[in-house]
Amino acid sequence: MQALTASWAGWVAAYEQHCKALPGPTHTVCPNCGADELRVMFAGRTERRTGYAAFWCEGCLVGIHLGRCAVPEGAAMESLDTPVEQRAVRVPNYTMLWPDEAE
Ligand SMILES: [Zn+2]
Repeated sequence: MQALTASWAGWVAAYEQHCKALPGPTHTVCPNCGADELRVMFAGRTERRTGYAAFWCEGCLVGIHLGRCAVPEGAAMESLDTPVEQRAVRVPNYTMLWPDEAE
């Protein structure tokens, strides 16, 4: 098991910073391992631009999942109607951090 060094708040702060930079290049560092390898995938109702977000680090495969969120303007998002295997962004099987484990 990967040691979890970052708090939930640290991950949310990184997520917010990452989202602000979208759709441009993002260079937020992973709060867990420090790598510049954070990835986000939004999926939901494209017409409403709401859905969920998977946010993880490709370096250490740790991240968070946000159940209901607004998809930032200009950010790429996947429709829930698109089968997972046909989506542009492949989400790895990463270790999810939850608020109650971190605080
Ligand atoms: Zn990492």
